[in-house]
Amino acid sequence: MDSFSLDIRTLNFIIILFSCIYSIGLLCYQRSQKEIPGLQLFALSLLFIGIGPFFLGMRGTTPDWFSIVLANTIIMFGFQLVLHSLCIFRNCSLRYTYFTYTCIPITLSLFYYFTHVSPSIKARIIVISVFLAITTLLSAFTTLKGRHKDLKIAIWMMSTSFFLYGSFMTLRVAWTLYSEELHNFMYAELIHQLTFLFSIILVVAISFSMLWMINARLVNSIYDLSRRDPLTQLYNRYALERKLPDLINEINKVHPLSIIMVDIDNFKSINDLHGHLTGDEVIKRIAQIITAHTRNTDSAYRFGGDEILITLPKTDINLARAIAESLRKKISAYTLIEGNNLPMTSSFGVASLSEGEDWEHLVSRADQALYQAKQMGRNTVVTCSENPTLSAIYHASHHQHKAYEEAL
Ligand code: GH3
Ligand code: MG
Repeated sequence: MDSFSLDIRTLNFIIILFSCIYSIGLLCYQRSQKEIPGLQLFALSLLFIGIGPFFLGMRGTTPDWFSIVLANTIIMFGFQLVLHSLCIFRNCSLRYTYFTYTCIPITLSLFYYFTHVSPSIKARIIVISVFLAITTLLSAFTTLKGRHKDLKIAIWMMSTSFFLYGSFMTLRVAWTLYSEELHNFMYAELIHQLTFLFSIILVVAISFSMLWMINARLVNSIYDLSRRDPLTQLYNRYALERKLPDLINEINKVHPLSIIMVDIDNFKSINDLHGHLTGDEVIKRIAQIITAHTRNTDSAYRFGGDEILITLPKTDINLARAIAESLRKKISAYTLIEGNNLPMTSSFGVASLSEGEDWEHLVSRADQALYQAKQMGRNTVVTCSENPTLSAIYHASHHQHKAYEEAL
């Protein structure tokens, strides 16, 4: 095993270099970005992981309490901060850090004991390796367990790096337990030399996967922004044009799919009488009512000015009509402006997907039903016939139902 050998001093220098460069780089990156939870702490933890080996390298020129006890404590604290920062970054409970935080004073005392009272390099290696094994295995676990939606491949890369490092540290503990006492750490066996090499790999791998996850978060948020309407926070028409064809492909032939087209009644006069800003508030409020009173599987899109389209997967025409009717009641129960008892209503057009129908045709049928609702005096739900060719036949609900049938 000893025929192959690595120079610990050189490896130690590379750890210092890499950790400090990544740390400063990430701190500068964080300054130019909006706050990313946990990133600053992660950058600081790398700084500790870099400073520890720097003090370690001063062995012989500085007192042992400095180059052994303090240096190793700083390294352990660095790994502890990595775990803490990952709990924040990945939105995981901080309780995973409690045990390792309480271990730090214990390991510090043990280091002091095995340096000044009963000096033993072997015992010190076991103490730090046990601590690093626990913190890195916990880091692997929290990275995987975090609730934040991150890029899967980057999560796996980070947690695998921690897991391999933690496993190596466990092996190092077992190996050291059964080997003889060391006399000079700088000329230690290959397994101890490899510790430095693996530490470099760990610093590079976790910094890279961290940046990868942050980049994926930014791309996601840009993608999300492009699909959202800034006023209502509903999805926009661009999102609908992409989502609806996919939904039809997914669901068609297996489950029914319905849509509801909503349009605010006499919205122009709200704008004219109370101003555009009040009009904006009204659209926002209606969007909130729709979001609050539809199911998790339903999605609402701002289709146009005061028009909102709701997709209802696995919903037949009868259920869709009932949902539209309940929304109609909820909206009409809402008073537009406090102190100004102006009633507010909306009209609804409902349609269900027919076999072989494309999304544009489905939307146009819902739109025709909505048009009929407006014709019937507004504050009404009208469902379009499921047969796309019979678009003239509608079923109206609400008080005008009978009058409409008579008119037909
Ligand atoms: P109807 O009952 O027939 O729907 O009558 P309406 O007055 O609501 O007519 P229509 O739906 O055609 O008018 C929509 C108006 O919505 C026209 C436009 O001035 C207004 N509008 C469109 N987008 C916005 C917006 O973002 N904010 C505000 N305040 N008004 C908007
Ligand atoms: Mg309108």
